[in-house]
Amino acid sequence: MKLVKFFKYSLPIGIAGIVINIILFVTNAYYELVVPVIENSGIEGGLFTFLDYLIYLTPCIFMVLFIAYIVIGQIYMKKVHLQVEDKANQDLVHKNREIQKVLDEKAEFLKHNYYTNCPNCGSARAENEKVCSFCGASLIIEENKK
Ligand SMILES: [Zn+2]
Repeated sequence: MKLVKFFKYSLPIGIAGIVINIILFVTNAYYELVVPVIENSGIEGGLFTFLDYLIYLTPCIFMVLFIAYIVIGQIYMKKVHLQVEDKANQDLVHKNREIQKVLDEKAEFLKHNYYTNCPNCGSARAENEKVCSFCGASLIIEENKK
């Protein structure tokens, strides 16, 4: 879940990062700020040329990194959203099954006619009872016995 925090705002952050690095690259601001440090450090020859290029291209490298950050972030967040949706759907299916079960039980209950008094012991039938609460005898009036 830490990755969610990291990628949540990858699009606005990534775009801001790209814009900033485009400005740094076009205006040469980063290069002009850092190159004097290298020049004053006494580095010469091939290493200087390499560092010179590296500093020149640093904003471009960051642009690529920010683009990757956006792309990976979008893919990752899409995946997370699908997982959340999937979980919600599973919960819904589960709830529907439970409701269907209750409805089935109710339908099964309403299918029968019931004695108002127990045919075995004569005690009054309480509401929603299928069997006598005193003696356990069935309170269902069988169709063929009517
Ligand atoms: Zn009874």
